[in-house]
This record gives sequence, structure tokens and C-alpha cells, in this order.
Amino acid sequence: MDFDLPEEMSALREMTRRFCAEEIGPHAREWDRTGEIPMDTIKKMGELGFMGTLAPADLDGAELGYLGNAIVMEEFARQCGGTALMLAAHNGLCQGHLLVAANDEQKKKYLPALARGEMIGSWCLTEPSSGSDAAALKTRAELRGDEWVINGSKMFITNGDRAGLFIVTARTSDESKTKGISAFIVERDTPGLSTGIKEDKMGMRASDTVPVNFENVKIPRENLCGELNMGFIDTLKVLERGRIAIGSLSVGLARGAMEEAVAYAKEREQFGKPIIQHQMLQFMLADMATQIDAARLLCRKAALLQDSGQSSEIESAMCKLFASEIATKACLDAIQICGGYGYTKDMPMERLMRDAKLCEIGEGSSQVQRLVIARKLLDLRKGA
Ligand SMILES: Cc1cc2nc3c(=O)[nH]c(=O)nc-3n(C[C@H](O)[C@H](O)[C@H](O)COP(=O)(O)OP(=O)(O)OC[C@H]3O[C@@H](n4cnc5c(N)ncnc54)[C@H](O)[C@@H]3O)c2cc1C
Repeated sequence: MDFDLPEEMSALREMTRRFCAEEIGPHAREWDRTGEIPMDTIKKMGELGFMGTLAPADLDGAELGYLGNAIVMEEFARQCGGTALMLAAHNGLCQGHLLVAANDEQKKKYLPALARGEMIGSWCLTEPSSGSDAAALKTRAELRGDEWVINGSKMFITNGDRAGLFIVTARTSDESKTKGISAFIVERDTPGLSTGIKEDKMGMRASDTVPVNFENVKIPRENLCGELNMGFIDTLKVLERGRIAIGSLSVGLARGAMEEAVAYAKEREQFGKPIIQHQMLQFMLADMATQIDAARLLCRKAALLQDSGQSSEIESAMCKLFASEIATKACLDAIQICGGYGYTKDMPMERLMRDAKLCEIGEGSSQVQRLVIARKLLDLRKGA
């Protein structure tokens, strides 16, 4: 058992850290305000492989595996949560679904442009009336001749405003709730597909979140992604992997809050000494450091399970649950350490805190993660 990163992963972390410090961090406050990551930056990210972290090398991906993806997510989130969330939806959800379920022809057709960052991907599961209970979705797809016709509405779709490709789940049978859903590949310019105005969100503002509507959207029969009626089963696999990315994103936000708080506390003096010398603040930072390390280890355990071809259902739920909750706490404590200055937009903690809160909600809320973990424990007990 070795807790050191392999050499190529350390090099990836250093390269990503440098890129994010130079190209992402200095703009994070501005993108939080404007709600947009410039396309020039996305192009640079594509050139360095960040837009294709999981896609195979022979399809222009960086093929970094789940550990590599976790490292990239932490480093991006350290500087800008919204940019990291854009990547999570593009790499983990959109390309992730193609990797789990698409046939070779579909992968060859769509993955290279996504992996090079020439096209942004989105993943449409959530609907206005189905979030945690995702299998209750109402969007329908009917086969008419050689075309699927999709009707319905999706909600809270990351990257939807600029996506060139949408992976869409829709009901294709009423015989079973979970085994009556299929996934489809829908290109942006398909008539009948429209996106609504961007949500005015509390955090993760650099990434866009929009409703996506489908009105008699006709796509070729071969754009079914995966087996008919098995789209929800594939969705669970996508989420199992995606939660490692959200856990790692949370670790990056928490680390950002801690590093900024330490730097400030070394400079700020009260009662004749730097505030970091007050033991009560030291204890807050010690708790933060311990929780961040524990969260990162949980994420890496889940990532290594995936990289070795094993299931990480419970580990993915645990890392996302723990990392997202400690991230919100770390950000709040970092604000506390910085006092009134930490409460202003001049310091990054309030943005990090707004970003962190999303991680307790998206890709399955904390309550849903606890359900997943508890369900698994009950199964284990039944088997024992
Ligand atoms: C910024 C952002 C980006 C997103 N990006 C995407 C995306 O790209 N693609 C996509 O498909 N979706 C996306 N989502 C949707 C996200 O996955 C859902 O918001 C999330 O799954 C929760 O669903 P909901 O918002 O409908 O809340 P609800 O399901 O209505 O839940 C409300 C509350 O009830 C609790 N709850 C629900 N069921 C239970 C239960 N059984 N036991 C205990 N408590 C329960 C929840 O934990 C929560 O606290 C995004 C959301 C946001 C905010």
C-alpha cells in the first residue's frame, strides 16, 4: 500500500496546478460575476487535455483515469468551482455516459471533438418534477419509423447554454420505472431543441445552468445510446463515477478556503500578534486540514477502485457526502477566521462557500448519498 502518487500523477498535479494558478484563478472572481468562462480559456484547456480527461487516447482523450480526473478536479476547484463544475459535466457526465454506454461508432463520432474541447457536452437527467427521484422522469421518446421523437423538459442542465451535444434520458416503456428509460444522443441544432435563460444561481456562477426543452425533437434511430430501456442503469454507473469528481471538486474548494485563511491569518494582527497565533484559530485550521486529508483519501480510494475496474458505489457516495459537507464547513470557518474582510467579495472565501454548497445538492444530495450508503449496509447485513 502506497499513499504517494505515482510519478506521472504528481507531474499531472504540478502541471494542472500551474495552469490553474496562471489561467483560471486570476479570473475566477470576474467569471463569477459575468457567469461565463471565455471560449479562449476552454480552447487552451482542450489543448492541454483537460476537456478529455477520461476519453481514450486513440479518440484524442488524455486517458487520465479516475485518479487523474480527481487530481484535475481538485486543482481546478482550488481556483474556480464553476470551471471545475463545467468540466465535471463535460467529462464525467456527458463523455462519461458515452464511455459507459455508446457503441464504437458513436464514440468515434462524438468523443474526439468533445475531448479536444471543440464542442461542449451536457447531460440531461433532471426534470422540473423529478430530481432525487430521477427515475420518475416524464420526458418520452417514441420510435416512429426510423426516428426517435423526444418530447419533454429538462431542468438545471450544466453547460446547456453552450453545449453542442446533449445526452438525454427519456421514458421508452411504462412497464418498469427504472427499466423503462433509455438514453439518447441529441445534437444542438436538431429542430425542436431549445434552451431557456440561465438560472441566477447562488454559486458555481461561472458554469451555466439552464432548462432544456424538447418539442417533437426527431433524431435518427441509431442515436439511442446503450441498450433500449437500460438507460437508467447506465445513468447509475455514470453517477457512481461522477460523484468521485464532485468529491474531488469539494476537496479543491476546501483546500482553497484553508490556504487563503492561513495566508490571511499569518498577516493579520490583533492583540499584538498575528491572529494565527491564537490557539482557537489554530484548532479550526487543524480540523480543516484533517478533514481535507480524509476527504481526499476517500476520493482517491473510490477513484482507484474504478481504475482497477471495480465497483465504487458505496465509496463514491461516501467521498461525495463527506467531502461536500466538510467543504461547506471549511469555507464557513475560513470566513470566520478572516472576520469582516472574509465576509466581503474582496476575499475569495464567500465565493468558495457559495460554490461548495452546490456539492451537497448536485449529482445526488447528501440525503441521497446517505440513502445509497445505508441501502448498501442493509444489503450487507441481509447477506451476512
Ligand atoms: C447548479 C446545478 C447544476 C446541475 N447540473 C445538472 C446537470 O448537468 N444535469 C442534470 O441532470 N441535473 C443537474 N442538476 C440537478 C441536480 O442533480 C438536482 O438538483 C439534485 O439531484 C436534487 O434534485 P432537486 O433539486 O429536484 O431536489 P429534490 O429532489 O426536490 O430534493 C429536495 C430536498 O429533499 C431531499 N430528499 C429528496 N428525496 C429524499 C428522500 N428519499 N429522503 C430524504 N430526503 C430526500 C433532498 O435531499 C433535498 O434536500 C444540477 C443542479 C444544480 C443546482
